[in-house]
Amino acid sequence: MSTKSIKEMGWDELVIGAAVYSFEGTINYNVAEVLPEDRHYAETNSKMAYVGDWRVFKPVWNSELCIDCQNCWLYCPDTSIISRDKKMVGVDYDHCKGCGICVEVCPTNPKSLLMFAEQIKNEEALTQWPEKTKGE
Ligand code: SF4
Ligand code: SF4
Repeated sequence: MSTKSIKEMGWDELVIGAAVYSFEGTINYNVAEVLPEDRHYAETNSKMAYVGDWRVFKPVWNSELCIDCQNCWLYCPDTSIISRDKKMVGVDYDHCKGCGICVEVCPTNPKSLLMFAEQIKNEEALTQWPEKTKGE
């Protein structure tokens, strides 16, 4: 039995029934009104864990083609699409798992998000973008 408090435990030491804190301190404000980068996440919040190295393929965003429809933001199962004031801003590569759902739901022709191998630099990926597909 651990003698550590839950706050001292790492995520992999937590036991069944443990209360996981999402934020540090007292929440006496509307979290939704505070930008994610300004929130005080607790150590046990998944936001604090870097999991970008789980990916084999990553989504690359082409801002020139994007129509800010927000489909990618809505469907991403990992809240890894960054959007501000209904404008697509980019991908949170610290947490994106590379599932490709954002690419599937992107409606533009060609798509504004495409999957590339993790080791390809984004600038290079943008030079390999396909042309518009005719007849669609
Ligand atoms: S690849 Fe998956 S996890 Fe990553 S941003 Fe797209 S939908 Fe989200
Ligand atoms: S789904 Fe495609 S077009 Fe819509 S906001 Fe995302 S990247 Fe832009």
